[in-house]
Amino acid sequence: MTAVTRPPARPALTGLRPLDLAPLPPVLATPPGDVADVVARARAAFPAWAALPLEDREARLDAAARRMVARRGEVVALLAAEVGKGHAEALFGEALAPLDQLRQWRPIVRAHLRRRRIALPRLAFPGKRAFVDVVPRGVIAVITPWNYPLATFLRPVLPALLTGNAVVLKPSEHAPRTALWFAESLASFLPDGLVGLVLGGADHGRAVVGSDVDAVCFTGSVAAGRDVARRCGERLVPASLELGGKDAAIVLADCDLDRTLAGITTWALHNAGQDCGAIERVYVEEAIADAFVGRLADAWRRLRVADRLGEGDVAPLATEAQLAVVTRHVDDARRRGAVVRCGGVRVGAGLGYAPTVLDRCTDEMDVVREETFGPVVAIRRVAHADEAVERANASAYGLGASVWTRDLARGRAIAERLRCGVLHVNNHALSGAVVALPWTGTGASGGGIANGPHALATFTRPRSLLVDAAAAPDPFWMPYDGDLVDLGERVGRLQTGDLGAALRLPALAARRRRTLREFFAPRPTDGSSL
Ligand code: NAD
Repeated sequence: MTAVTRPPARPALTGLRPLDLAPLPPVLATPPGDVADVVARARAAFPAWAALPLEDREARLDAAARRMVARRGEVVALLAAEVGKGHAEALFGEALAPLDQLRQWRPIVRAHLRRRRIALPRLAFPGKRAFVDVVPRGVIAVITPWNYPLATFLRPVLPALLTGNAVVLKPSEHAPRTALWFAESLASFLPDGLVGLVLGGADHGRAVVGSDVDAVCFTGSVAAGRDVARRCGERLVPASLELGGKDAAIVLADCDLDRTLAGITTWALHNAGQDCGAIERVYVEEAIADAFVGRLADAWRRLRVADRLGEGDVAPLATEAQLAVVTRHVDDARRRGAVVRCGGVRVGAGLGYAPTVLDRCTDEMDVVREETFGPVVAIRRVAHADEAVERANASAYGLGASVWTRDLARGRAIAERLRCGVLHVNNHALSGAVVALPWTGTGASGGGIANGPHALATFTRPRSLLVDAAAAPDPFWMPYDGDLVDLGERVGRLQTGDLGAALRLPALAARRRRTLREFFAPRPTDGSSL
């Protein structure tokens, strides 16, 4: 008898452990037909959540965040399994963030949600009071990549929930297990359905964007970001797009070389360079280029690529596709004449790649133009800072950049000439840990804003309210007559400096009010035609 193999009821998300290529336990994807239900459940949970006092929402999120940090061991293990992250990077980059970020968000959200009273000129607006409230949009879709499976959720989800929204999460198909852990951690403390989870790939992402959500917060590649923007445009819902990067570091001859080498090493190789804010290009002044490149390569040769247990400095790449991009960029640079000072080879039992310094790179190389997202840095020697600025700005991307120098005032002045959203002097990308500082880019990096009060526009909208306590009708209401035209003309004369025109304004306004009252007063003939 032949065994009948039945296809799984739902397609499964599979994957390999980046550390040793062992298969990961499959996770069932969400049936595409269920996406609308997940969104509908979030929408149903939204009004009651939005109506809670902010302190209640804060308290519940605080309890969830506490639980996440207390159980950090679980998520550290998931991050190692799914994307190959090492223990230290998993802790500092992701697992310790929930409580820290929540605490930083609180005062920002409080200030943002406070009702504002708007002062109105009493003569022009008699008896009127006006307010601006900030209200949640409703259901926010949050679509994330694989490089920071927890942190890319925390960044938008905490402020979205704090401001009173429901959320629908669509994690990367490469990190569904971390997303399940996150969604379950939140769900234990939040109303049923408020946090929806859709597991699947790009098609699931498209389905979420096309569903009944009120805004989309997308973090990912430029190509997918463009598609999300198009679809959101059709639906007329806001899209916040946090896309790729190709960050430059400008190393000036007067820098503290020891510290600069350490800083650039960390910010280029952190998370194996799979960071939108990783240093991928270095423009170094010729005067110190030999010393800088020589010492950087020496140090990078001594760094350990993580072994099967995850012990080491540099994580493996998270996916085979990413390893293929890195290999293609290094091969292209070699072919075009770059000098490989160290690395340039695959290492270990998994997706490890040796930290790679490519010297004497030129502008037409893929490794200079495209996002590499790997443990590779492209070095370009420049004559002076002006040339560095010009070359750094000649990129389609515009996320972050840094200047390394002992002269802080000059460093700042040079940084301010860079066409980016996140600037540093003598550090790089560190501001991502400060919730009050916007994390944002320009050009191909997308105009999305994560962090800072400006980010809250994705999750909230302003709503104005005018309350009229005036007893009389406003003078410009119908019916119109010569007094109204006279009134308007006098306002025009007054605005252009003829102060004498003001004299008759109160009398004219009073006469208009009388006219209107008399016009709408009951008359003996009223209702006779009914
Ligand atoms: P990706 O665009 O392939 O996928 C990101 C997410 O979008 C995944 O969940 C995916 O399933 C989904 N998706 C793919 N196509 C979609 C579509 N057409 N409509 C809706 N959803 C779709 O990106 P990735 O490879 O997972 O992540 C790497 C990219 O993310 C890099 O370019 C990196 O720079 C960027 N990133 C940016 C930031 C930032 O803050 N700017 C932070 C982290 C990562």
